[in-house]
Amino acid sequence: MQAVATDFGIEKALKELGVKDINEGTSTGSKNFSNGEVIESYSPVDGKLIGKVKTTTKEDYDKVLDAATSAFQTWRTMPAPQRGEIVRQFGDKLREKKEALGKLVSYEMGKSYQEGLGEVQEMIDICDFAVGLSRQLHGLTMHSERPGHRMYEQYHPLGVVGIISAFNFPVAVWAWNTALAWVCGDVCIWKPSEKTPMCGIACQNIAAEVFKANDLPEGISNLIIGDHRVGEMMTKDTRIPLISATGSTRMGKIVAQEVAGRLGKSLLELGGNNAIIVTPDADIKMTVIGAVFGAVGTAGQRCTSTRRLIIHESMYDKVKDAVVAAYNQLKIGNPLDENNHVGPVIDKDAVKMYQDALERVVDEGGKVIVGGEVLSGEGFESGCYVRPAIAEAQPDYKIVQHETFAPVLYLLKYSGDVHNALEIQNGVKQGLSSAIMTNNLREAEAFLSVQGSDCGIANVNIGTSGAEIGGAFGGEKETGGGRESGSDAWKVYMRRQTNTINYTADLPLAQGIKFDL
Ligand code: NAD
Repeated sequence: MQAVATDFGIEKALKELGVKDINEGTSTGSKNFSNGEVIESYSPVDGKLIGKVKTTTKEDYDKVLDAATSAFQTWRTMPAPQRGEIVRQFGDKLREKKEALGKLVSYEMGKSYQEGLGEVQEMIDICDFAVGLSRQLHGLTMHSERPGHRMYEQYHPLGVVGIISAFNFPVAVWAWNTALAWVCGDVCIWKPSEKTPMCGIACQNIAAEVFKANDLPEGISNLIIGDHRVGEMMTKDTRIPLISATGSTRMGKIVAQEVAGRLGKSLLELGGNNAIIVTPDADIKMTVIGAVFGAVGTAGQRCTSTRRLIIHESMYDKVKDAVVAAYNQLKIGNPLDENNHVGPVIDKDAVKMYQDALERVVDEGGKVIVGGEVLSGEGFESGCYVRPAIAEAQPDYKIVQHETFAPVLYLLKYSGDVHNALEIQNGVKQGLSSAIMTNNLREAEAFLSVQGSDCGIANVNIGTSGAEIGGAFGGEKETGGGRESGSDAWKVYMRRQTNTINYTADLPLAQGIKFDL
């Protein structure tokens, strides 16, 4: 095993999860193989090599498709509650491996260990949700207009579901999709981010163990690894009726066009540019906690990270001072050390994006009031640690309109009533998460009304990040319009069929049409 941060138990975690020095990146369950180029995964925590992975070639990919297509024939005929039982066992296995997987998430992606554990907990929660759902995949019954007829709808599985995921939630996004898709009777092929391949290997090992223990065919849970070229094999493939893609808006636009071009379905979870509105009736203490956690949690690399604070002019200085004071308390360092609040960003490209954004906000007339430094010296050898930044800016700056996937928070001022704040909030292309801090009922209801927030998520007296799995998750506009996780998000993984049965000896036509022979 490579030299890793053994003091935090990483080596033990990798062993427990079956992650090796060199891994096969293609897997149909019990069969692991790969003939593609080798990629290496380095930890942003300490810059050390975690391991290598052989990527998926077109030939490997076709073998996976064959295994998945064949497994679907069996899996779809298993009663849904029995599929739920398999997902229950998968959730239990995740409970056993929670610490190890949480540690790997933290070490490979860079989020805090607590957030890594939280991510695995989300996987467990969605499994529990899916188990209950496996007995509730029901459609409606309708009254037919024709005598002696019965009409109802039912849901059938789609087939092979392709999952493309981003680096920042390297395990949970897969589980949100796969737990639901599995109970719905689909089989899944997952291409994790090429920046976090070890998390993919670890998850696939856990799933494969459960399917094997139940003597189920391989091909229900499949893994492929590589960059956008491997993703494109999926998006172009007519054998995959649904592509669920999580990542940048840039990627989503390409995937959407490719999949729509073959009339496939896509579920898109793309970039956000999330804001908290702070009104004159806001509780300052809650505002500061919500804003700071939202902006610096996961080093500003959540799709729901708080990027804009829209503060009423009467509160501006007070809120600014309180947020700046909180930023000055932040401890930056190894995310596996629970004393630290902020870990590294994913890689040096992300550091560059952070620096460029701060340069651009100054070029446009703004002012950086906290942060801007890339940290160096002991503990920061990976070169991926930055001090979370705060900049004063105007809502229409190009850089403010853009999602910079790094810890940069823009302070924006509004005057007048909450509708002016909403105009600023909605005045960006993205539409994922939004929040208002207020104890004023009129402001809160205006924010939630039809003239209010245009985002998929709108919170009152809660920050923008940290959604629960029970609700449907996703956003509007350039965030892609997809919904996954809770509520009725399961319907996207199934096809709806309307059935009409005539139990008479006559054949009356709908709409009273006469057709006598
Ligand atoms: P990214 O777009 O660079 O990559 C995401 C995934 O898409 C990767 O697996 C990548 O290999 C794949 N990909 C890239 N181009 C592709 C193509 N042409 N065809 C098929 N696949 C392709 O994103 P990232 O840097 O990994 O993640 C950060 C972004 O993801 C941010 O914009 C963030 O807001 C977004 N995100 C959104 C959500 C959400 O639920 N809305 C959740 C997490 C992350």
